[in-house]
Amino acid sequence: MKYETVIGLEIHLELQTRSKLFCSCSTTFGKEPNSNCCPVCLGLPGSLPVFNRRAIELAVRAALALNSNVQPKSRFDRKNYFYPDLPKAYQVSQFDQPLARGGFLEIELVGEPRTINLERVHLEEEAGKLLHAGDSILESDYSLVDYNRAGIPLLEIVTAPDLRSGKEARAFLEDLRMLMLYSGVSDCKMEEGSLRCDANISLRPAGTTILGTKAEVKNMNSFKAVEMALNYEVVRQEKILSSGGTITQETCHWNEETKQTIPLRGKEGSSDYRYFPEPDLLPLVLEPAFIEAQAITLPETPLNRRRRFKRQYALEDKEALLLTENRSLGDFFETAARSYSGYRNLANWVQGDLQFQLRDSEKPVEEFNPALIIELLELLDQGKINRPVAKELLGEMVRSGTSPLQLVADKGLGLISSREQLLPLVEKVIAENPEVVTSIRQGKDKALAFLVGRVMAMTGGRADPAELNLLLKEEINK
Ligand SMILES: [Zn+2]
Repeated sequence: MKYETVIGLEIHLELQTRSKLFCSCSTTFGKEPNSNCCPVCLGLPGSLPVFNRRAIELAVRAALALNSNVQPKSRFDRKNYFYPDLPKAYQVSQFDQPLARGGFLEIELVGEPRTINLERVHLEEEAGKLLHAGDSILESDYSLVDYNRAGIPLLEIVTAPDLRSGKEARAFLEDLRMLMLYSGVSDCKMEEGSLRCDANISLRPAGTTILGTKAEVKNMNSFKAVEMALNYEVVRQEKILSSGGTITQETCHWNEETKQTIPLRGKEGSSDYRYFPEPDLLPLVLEPAFIEAQAITLPETPLNRRRRFKRQYALEDKEALLLTENRSLGDFFETAARSYSGYRNLANWVQGDLQFQLRDSEKPVEEFNPALIIELLELLDQGKINRPVAKELLGEMVRSGTSPLQLVADKGLGLISSREQLLPLVEKVIAENPEVVTSIRQGKDKALAFLVGRVMAMTGGRADPAELNLLLKEEINK
C-alpha cells in the first residue's frame, strides 16, 4: 500500500521586545541565570500582570504578514501544567479566542508555488529554561532552572495539516523565518531558541482523507533536524503500518546524536491542561486603527521581492533568492541598479566578489558606497582595466573606501594600450621565440596565443589584448 504523509507544524517565535510580556524585566539573551526576574514573571502571590503594548503590536504585525485574521477581541487563559520551568505552574496563553484565526503562507519549492494554510496565531508567555546535567535529557542526574526566559512574549503559529514531506516542512520554515525577519517581529535565532518548532506527523493510505494517528516530534534545533526527524518518522510509521500494526499517539524527542526519535510520553489532550480564563487580564480588544497602523508599515514580503527581482532585473531564481535572503545585500543591489543597467553583471559582482571582500574585511555592506562598484564596473566595461585588476581593486575599495579611478591612477593599474609601451615587449618575445614566430608565419595562428601569454606575463596581465594582438601580427609579418 502507498501512504501519504501529513504534517502540521507548531512554531514558537519569541517577539523582539525589550521587556517581557507582563512586566518590565529585560529580555536580553545570555544574562546571568535568574537575574532578569521579578515577582510578576516569577508568579509570586499578589503580583499582577500588565500588558506590554509593543508585544501586541508585534504579534498583530506577524499575524497580518501571515494573512491571518486579527480578531477584534481575544482572550487569555491559564494553561495549567506542572513542570519545573514554569514558576506559576500555569502559562498565560490563548485557548478558544486566539489573537488571529486562519491565514496562509505561500512558499516556493523548486520554483513551484504551494499555499500552506494556517489554523491560528496566538500570543502567550515563555516558560523558563531547564539546563540538564550531562548530554542527554533522558539520562541526567539533575537539572538547573533559569527563569530569565519566563514571561518573554511568545507567538505560536499553528499550520493546518497541509505539509506533505520533511523537505516541504523545511522549506515552509525557511520561508516563514525570512518573512518574520522582514516583518521585524523576531530575531528568529534558532541557536538562542527564539524560533522553535514542533511537528505533528501521521500517515494515511494515499487517496484517503481521514487523518491517521499522529506522533508529535519535539526538540528539533535546526531546519535540517526538522527535515531529518520527519523523514525518520515517515519510515518508522510506514514500517509499523505495513506490517499491520497501529501507531500510538505520543510525544517524541529528536535525538540529534543517534538521529532517531525517542518516545517521551503519551500526548496530552487540551483537557489535561484545565484551561480557564485568566482572571487578572481583561480581554484584549483591538481597535481597527491599531491594526491598520501595523498593516501599513509592513514591508514587501520576501516572496514578492524575489519574484520582482526576477522580473525587473531578469535575474535567475538562485540570484533573486540570495539577494532576498541577504536583505541588506539586496538593498545595495537595488540602489546600484538605479544607475547601472547591466543587472546580471552587477548581481554577479555583488553576490560574488563584493560579498567575499566584505566578509574578508568584516564590514557590513551598508558601509560600502554603491557608486564605487558602478565606477569599477564602468572601468571594466570600457576596457580601461581587466578582470583580475578589477577584482584586486575591489578588495582595496572595500578596505579603504577609495574610488577605483583614484586607485588606477595611483597605482598605474590601467591597461597598457600605448604602442610605445608595448613595442619593446613585443620585440623582446619575438626575438626570444624564433621557432614560434616561424610557425606563425607558416599559418599556425594558435602559436600567437603563446606570445600574447608571454607579454601578458611580463605586464602582470595589464596589456590591452586587442592592441597587443594587432601589434604582434604586424611585427611578425613585417
Ligand atoms: Zn519580571
